[in-house]
Amino acid sequence: MSSAAASTTPLADEVTIIGAGPAGLMAACLLRQAKWNVEVLDQRFDVSARPANAASYNLTLTPAGRFVLAQADISMQDCGRPIVGRRILDAGGKVHGFRYGAATEDYLLSVPRHELIGRLCDRARSLGANIVGGVHVIRTDPTQGDVVVEEPSRALSRLQRKHLIAADGVYSTCRNDVVHATQAGMSLRDNGVVYTTLDIPTGEARASKLDPSWIHFSSGPGTMVIGLPNADESFSLVVEWSGGHTGTVEDRAQAEEILARFSLNRLIGLVPDATTALVGRRVRKFSYVACQRWETGRILLMGDAAHAMPPYLGAGVNTALVDAFAFAKAVERTTSFEEAACAYERERQEYVGNLDSLARQHEDALVSGEWGGPRWRLRQRIDRAAEQLLGRRTIYQHLIFDAPTKCVRGQIR
Ligand SMILES: Cc1cc2nc3c(=O)[nH]c(=O)nc-3n(C[C@H](O)[C@H](O)[C@H](O)COP(=O)(O)OP(=O)(O)OC[C@H]3O[C@@H](n4cnc5c(N)ncnc54)[C@H](O)[C@@H]3O)c2cc1C
Repeated sequence: MSSAAASTTPLADEVTIIGAGPAGLMAACLLRQAKWNVEVLDQRFDVSARPANAASYNLTLTPAGRFVLAQADISMQDCGRPIVGRRILDAGGKVHGFRYGAATEDYLLSVPRHELIGRLCDRARSLGANIVGGVHVIRTDPTQGDVVVEEPSRALSRLQRKHLIAADGVYSTCRNDVVHATQAGMSLRDNGVVYTTLDIPTGEARASKLDPSWIHFSSGPGTMVIGLPNADESFSLVVEWSGGHTGTVEDRAQAEEILARFSLNRLIGLVPDATTALVGRRVRKFSYVACQRWETGRILLMGDAAHAMPPYLGAGVNTALVDAFAFAKAVERTTSFEEAACAYERERQEYVGNLDSLARQHEDALVSGEWGGPRWRLRQRIDRAAEQLLGRRTIYQHLIFDAPTKCVRGQIR
């Protein structure tokens, strides 16, 4: 039995969670272990299915993310690939590699998103959570706890619920209701970058000697391709470009127009028949959120609904998992949902603020072309030398590896 399940919980209650993503499902598992009645609502009909027209992109799990999953007896080790650092494939054909750090735990586990969701779903259901798909939440009332939902039949109904956790992602419907109720500030922005996904099969990746222990980046003017390895040594690519349109890639002409931007990209060059692969894929845009208040007493925001940041730190899913853990721990220490929600917000805001600043710095460096360039590479060398000779950790290492791990492990003892 996990430690979370073994601890004494003074408060057993009921909660409706909106969104069956990593944050919502992790919260469902942990609150079920604390004997809460848990209902999860999601707009997708089959919550754990892989989306048909988008290869599920990969996510990187940090030590803290892996630790939180282990509290619900979930391991991703068998379907993941440990990555020890970043490799930049530069336009001149050179490869520059930088390790995340010298400590044993300084690695990320690259896992397919649909596998993570599938395992979280199975675990939440086996613990007794009621997961209901095909329910689109239209709005919430943060003072009364009411939820207006569109049922699969398209009928609208009003549900009266005691407590709500809004884990409905970056385009959260519930966030506006919380912001309105608390009169807090929030920003929602996008930097004009859109993305889609492609895959490099195992054979092509091996033949080209792409090392599956590293995350690979290959960029050009206004473009970036990120390759994350899978357990079978194939690579899952996130393909990004500036100024594109969202929607589905309709035909070969549109696919070729997109691919023309990547004509010299070394990772795209390894995708067999990229034009055919791209037709039918969905193109989405990256959006970012910073929200001053995350709770109203009756409803609280978790994961991307509260704080979506640029994905280049590989921190979003881990922050979502640690959010769920922090709330479950706050519940153990307090006597009401309201108190736990306040404690959770206080505890998480500072860390997330620091992470957001760092994510924006990374984004600026990527957009300006500085990232991967000579100055950036020199900085990486200096940082690695400082770590080896003086034991000094960078802000990146502190925020991704050290602080969240210390925080989650510290709460369990
Ligand atoms: C291309 C890409 C690559 C990324 N790579 C990484 C990475 O390598 N490492 C990392 O840590 N993070 C990464 N991230 C970020 C990470 O995916 C998110 O931070 C994480 O998924 C947030 O989890 P969440 O549960 O808060 O929200 P989500 O995963 O967005 O889940 C929200 C859920 O709510 C449901 N929903 C939404 N609206 C409604 C509604 N109105 N009614 C009912 N249900 C609703 C959705 O169907 C969904 O199931 C990446 C993101 C992208 C887009």
